[in-house]
Amino acid sequence: MRAADIQDDLTDILVTEEEIHAKLEELAAQVATDYSGKDLLLVGVLKGAVMVMADFSRRLPMNASMDWMAVSSYGASTKSSGVVQIRKDLDTDLHGKHVLIVEDIIDSGLTLSWLLENFESRGAESIEVLALLRKPEAAKVQIDCKYVGFDIPNEFVVGYGLDYAESYRNLRDVAVLAPHVYS
Ligand code: 5GP
Ligand code: MG
Ligand code: MG
Repeated sequence: MRAADIQDDLTDILVTEEEIHAKLEELAAQVATDYSGKDLLLVGVLKGAVMVMADFSRRLPMNASMDWMAVSSYGASTKSSGVVQIRKDLDTDLHGKHVLIVEDIIDSGLTLSWLLENFESRGAESIEVLALLRKPEAAKVQIDCKYVGFDIPNEFVVGYGLDYAESYRNLRDVAVLAPHVYS
C-alpha cells in the first residue's frame, strides 16, 4: 500500500507520535516513583501493545522484567466478542511479582477484566494496568486503570500497534479508520 492510499483509509488523527512519546515519558517517571525498590514485571498484551511496551519501557528509569501474553477477543471484526482466548501464555511465575499490564487500548474492558481475574489467581503481589488509550463511552465493565495515556471518543482507531485485520499497526500516529474500510 502506498502512503497516499493509507491516507484515504483514515479520517482524523487523534493522537500524534509526539504526543504519545511525551505522555509515555510522563507515565514512566510516575511508574518509576511508584515502584521504587520493587520487583516490577511488565506484561505486554500482544500484539497491539508492542509499540507502547517498546517506547514506555525504554523511558522507564529503573530495572523491570518483561513478559508477553497473547489473547484474542476480536478476530477481524471491530467489536469485542467478550470471549477471551489465550493464544500465548506467560513464561513467568507471578508469585511475589508486582505486575504492570501494558495495554494499547481499553474499549469494552472485557479483555482486561478477564485478564485481571486470571492474574489474581496466579499469586501476584500487586497488579496494575497501564493503557495508552481508553474509550470511556464504550465501557461495559469498570476497569481500575492506574495509568492512562489518552481518553478518546468511541470510534475504531488504528496505528501505533493497533490494527484492522493486521494492517495499519505500523502507522506512527493513532488515527480513526474510515468506515468505508470495514463497512
Ligand atoms: P476490549 O476487550 O476492552 O473491548 O478490547 C480488547 C482489545 O480489542 C484491545 O486490546 C484492542 O486490541 C482491540 N480494540 C479495542 N478497540 C479498538 C480500536 O478502536 N481499534 C483497534 N484497532 N483495536 C481495538
Ligand atoms: Mg490490546
Ligand atoms: Mg486487533
